Amino acid sequence: AAVIVAIDGPSGTGKSSTSKAVAAKLALSYLDTGAQYRAITWWMLSNGVDIQDPTAIATAAGKPAIVSGTDPAAPTITVDGQDAAGPIRTKEVTSAVSAVSAVPEVRSLITDLQRTIAGSAERGIVVEGRDIGTTVLPDADLKIFLTASPEARAARRSGELKGKEASDLAATREALIKRDAADSSRKTSPLAKADDAVEVDTTELTLEQVIECVVTLIEA
Ligand code: C5P
Repeated sequence: AAVIVAIDGPSGTGKSSTSKAVAAKLALSYLDTGAQYRAITWWMLSNGVDIQDPTAIATAAGKPAIVSGTDPAAPTITVDGQDAAGPIRTKEVTSAVSAVSAVPEVRSLITDLQRTIAGSAERGIVVEGRDIGTTVLPDADLKIFLTASPEARAARRSGELKGKEASDLAATREALIKRDAADSSRKTSPLAKADDAVEVDTTELTLEQVIECVVTLIEA
């Protein structure tokens, strides 16, 4: 039977790297749900939707067609047929995404999309996000909740950024804490650990150790 793995946690805990590697190792599909929220946010910004206005966001939410490619070796994301992989990682999108993802209409549409993708993965799928274990796939075979100290998370996130952005560790740390606070305090499916999730603190672990830990839990 297909195996469904939910990996949740705040940013900078190694969620994406871990999820991709685990999916590749076990020949499972992979879904980055954060990329979907970023894609819809990019579309809102590009189309002049006021991201301070939840009603405007709700009205526009169904317009863009978001398509995710689920090969862990080469995940893709398109919006209305356009490659969105680059634009969804800009600072503008990163600072707007929490406001867009807090709108219930956005969450409901994206959640449906995620369930459809997970349900059609033949061998199974690793789905990473914030509310996968609690809301999107509450019947997942395994739920992992990754954590790490704010210092470790900021350092890792900073390592992913280039040039000037990377050098400003304090600003990265502040932006990350602000985004996690917003994601944790929204009313609809906030960032949260499911009661039956296994919590893994990655602060003192290498990426290889975290991957090994998750693979062991799946195979157990
Ligand atoms: O994982 P990533 O940092 O790319 O996620 C970007 C944003 O998407 C998060 O800060 C959050 O606002 C939103 N998100 C969410 N639910 C998920 C995944 C991401 O609300 N399952």
